[in-house]
Amino acid sequence: MKNNIVELATYTDPKIVWKEFLKGIKEKVPFITYNTWFIPIKPLELENDTLKIQVPNNFFIEWIDEHYNSLINSLIENILGENGKLIYVIFDDFDQYEIVRDSNETIKEEPVPEVKPAVDNSQDFESNINPRYKFDNFIKGEGNQLARAASVAIAENPGQTSFNPLFLYGGVGLGKTHLIQAIGNQILSSYPQKKVIYLSSDIFTVEFVEAIQSNTVNDFSNFYKGMDVLIIDDIQFLIGKEKTQDLFFHIFNTLHQSGKQIILSSDKPPKDLKGLNERLISRFQWGLTADVQPPDFETRIAILKNKGESYGIILNNQLLEYIAYNITSNIRELEGCLIKLLANASLNSKEIDLELVKKTVKEISTNRPLNISIEYITKTVCEYYSVDENKVREKNRKKEVVNARQIAMYLSKQLTKSSLKTIGLHFGGRDHSTVIHAFNTIENLVNKDPGLKENIDTIRSKIEFSAG
Ligand code: ADP
Ligand code: MG
Repeated sequence: MKNNIVELATYTDPKIVWKEFLKGIKEKVPFITYNTWFIPIKPLELENDTLKIQVPNNFFIEWIDEHYNSLINSLIENILGENGKLIYVIFDDFDQYEIVRDSNETIKEEPVPEVKPAVDNSQDFESNINPRYKFDNFIKGEGNQLARAASVAIAENPGQTSFNPLFLYGGVGLGKTHLIQAIGNQILSSYPQKKVIYLSSDIFTVEFVEAIQSNTVNDFSNFYKGMDVLIIDDIQFLIGKEKTQDLFFHIFNTLHQSGKQIILSSDKPPKDLKGLNERLISRFQWGLTADVQPPDFETRIAILKNKGESYGIILNNQLLEYIAYNITSNIRELEGCLIKLLANASLNSKEIDLELVKKTVKEISTNRPLNISIEYITKTVCEYYSVDENKVREKNRKKEVVNARQIAMYLSKQLTKSSLKTIGLHFGGRDHSTVIHAFNTIENLVNKDPGLKENIDTIRSKIEFSAG
C-alpha cells in the first residue's frame, strides 16, 4: 500500500493524481456511481498537465461525459492546474485489461483479485457454472458490446454497481448464457468467499414445486436469499407461473435490498414479457437492460477463426467467408458447423474443402434447433396419450404413465439442448441414468414398432409446429 506518497508537491506519478481525483469524486457522487464508473478506470501516464486514463469502452466515456463533465474538469483543474486535462484511452482487450489489473500497479486499496479456477471455491453447494464460459473466450462484437461491458463491470464489483439487476436479452445462441456464466466464473475466482449460483428459471420452478411438495418452501427461499450473486437464465419461463413469480419477487427484493447482485437473461426485453407480473417487470428495469444482437460479418469471422483454432482446424479465408455468409444469426450454429466439419473430415479422413463446407452448412441450416421447452414437450405428450401431466412427474408406475414419461424424456433429449440432469429434474427429480434408460428404451421400441414411431412422429411435429 502506497499511502506515503501523497505528500509530493508536484505530481509525476499518474497513479497519485488519479488517487487524488478519486478522493474528490468520491465526495461528490453517489457511492454506487463511484464504484460503477470510476473504479474501473486506470491511470496510464502523466505528461505535463495531461493525465491519460484508460476506460473499459466507449460507453464509459459517453456516460461519464454526459453526467459528470463539469465536475471532472473542475477536479482536474484543482489538481493539475488550469491547463489540466484528461485524455481517455479505450482499452479494448479484456485480456490485457486483466493483466494491467493484476500487475500490482493498481491504486485500489482492496487486495487485487487473483485468478483461480472456478472450482476452487469454498461453497458447499453446486454453483452450476460451466468453467468453459469465460470472458477471455467470448469474442467481442458490436452486437454484444454493451452487454459484455456491463458484465465485466459487474464481475469486478458484484452488487456494487448500478447494474443491479443486469438484464440481458436477445435471441437464441447469441451468447447470453455464456456471458452471465462468465460473470459467475470471474466472481468465483476473484472472490472465492462469495456465494454464486446459476440456474435457469425452469429449474427454479421445478425446485420450487418440489419444495412445496416436501414442505420446505422456507428453506428453499432462504437458500436463494443467502446468495451473494444470483444468476437466473431464461427468465421468460416464469411466465404463467404465478406462485413461482411471487416467491421470486420476495427473493429478488431481499437480495437487492442487501446489495446482492442479480443477473437475469431473457429472450425479450422486460416490457415484452407479457404474462409476467408487472411488479417483477418494473424491478427488472431497475438496473441495466442490455440486448445481445446477432453477430456482424466480421465478428462471425473472428468467432470462426478463434473457435476453429481451439478445435485445431485452420480454415482459409474462402471457407471462413462461406460459412460466415451462410450462417448469420446464431453463434451456436457457427460452433456446430465447425464441430461437424471436424467430425466429417476426420470420419472420412478428408481435407476440409469448399465442398465439405457447403455440405455441412446445408445440413446445419436444415436442422435448425427450435426453441422448445421440456414442459411444452411433456404437455403435448400427455395430451396425446390423455395422461395427467402431474402423474408423469410423480412416482407413478402405471404402464401408460411410465410410457408417457419415457416418451417425454426421449423427445426432451432430442428436441432441447438440456442436459440429462436438467431433463431428469423436470420429471420429479429423477437422475440422469433414468433419462438415459428412458431414451434407450424408446429408441429400441421405435426401431421395432412402426405404430409407435408414427405416434412419436406425430407428437414431434405437433411440438415443432407450435414452436416453429
Ligand atoms: P444464448 O444463451 O444466448 O442462447 P449461448 O450463450 O448458449 O447463447 O451461446 C451459444 C454458443 O455460442 C455457446 O457455446 C457460446 O460459448 C458461444 N458464443 C456465443 N457468443 C459468443 C461470443 N461472442 N464469442 C465466443 N463464443 C460465443
Ligand atoms: Mg441461453
